[in-house]
Amino acid sequence: RPRVGTFGAGRAALPEPVLRQAAEEMLDWRGSGMSVMEMSHRGRDFMSIHAEAQADLRDLLAIPASHKLLFMQGGAIAENAIVPMNMFRGRASADYVETGAWSTRSIAEARRYGHVNVAASSADTKFTSIPPRDRWKLDPAAAYVHICSNETIGGVQYQTVPDVGEVPLVADVSSDILSRPLDVSRFGLLYGGAQKNIGPAGLTIVIVRDDLLGQAHPYTPDAFNYTLQAEADSMLNTPPTYAIYIAGLVFKWLKAQGGLAAMAARNEAKARLLYDALDASALYSCPVARDCRSLMNVPFHLKDPALDATFLKEAEARGLAQLKGHRVVGGMRASIYNAMPIEGVQALVDHL
Ligand SMILES: *Cc1c(COP(=O)(O)O)cnc(C)c1O
Repeated sequence: RPRVGTFGAGRAALPEPVLRQAAEEMLDWRGSGMSVMEMSHRGRDFMSIHAEAQADLRDLLAIPASHKLLFMQGGAIAENAIVPMNMFRGRASADYVETGAWSTRSIAEARRYGHVNVAASSADTKFTSIPPRDRWKLDPAAAYVHICSNETIGGVQYQTVPDVGEVPLVADVSSDILSRPLDVSRFGLLYGGAQKNIGPAGLTIVIVRDDLLGQAHPYTPDAFNYTLQAEADSMLNTPPTYAIYIAGLVFKWLKAQGGLAAMAARNEAKARLLYDALDASALYSCPVARDCRSLMNVPFHLKDPALDATFLKEAEARGLAQLKGHRVVGGMRASIYNAMPIEGVQALVDHL
């Protein structure tokens, strides 16, 4: 049976060449006589895999020397707690911008660790928009400003990096990291789970500016302390070795595709194809405001929701998998991450 492209939001499709290479190297990684999963994480072979993955990611994102790159575990939901533990830095409150389910969840978790000021919210539009920057009520003394760059459930994505002045900008980039070039120097901290737009679950990416380190709250667990992890080259605890290996293969694949500018061009073409078809259709609609539609997650509704089940069943039969919308939004959602080829999007458009 041929590989079925998945439109699922939770775990990304992986590029087929990456899976083939991993299969070839499964029993014996390049003459080492063992699988990557069996290697010592401090041995020469794994250390080279780890270092190369870090170097390739630094290259792809053009991460400046001012920022540390950490490979951690726990995913973005764990980061919702780890960020305030490391980033409050003795300050009284942090600003959060609420644009959907994931930023709402970040806010709820951060409230356990300090005062959270919701500087702006698009709850009044049912999270189908991003509050205009000139209406954000930012606190100049805030420890940081937190945004979710792409709301995976609602399909709302920032089109530019908001200017928040001197206060460090923190972003959950779980579902759009590596989808397009990003000016990392504009951020104090970026974090995201790898399983949306990179590869396997288990790896969490953290990129943090040097000057924000060294002030974690004393109750911060060592494994979640950015400063200690930076000092230990992300090996304070045993890292998720196999996930790092696969992510490293994805980074090489992305470089071979032409890097993030090339991915952005492809992702824009894929998204345009789908949004144009939805907008032109009398049967479907997309609820998200046009100026913040996500390139990665496209929610859409049938004007007659009674037809959803039939649509999904027929889509599945055509190999268009995991198109069911998130339960809080309903309808359908097509996640068109990096590894989804335009042919897959065309197949979906043909099915509309
Ligand atoms: C999936 C997702 C999360 C949760 O990630 P976990 O890895 O399951 O902890 C958080 N934020 C965003 C934007 C997501 O897409």
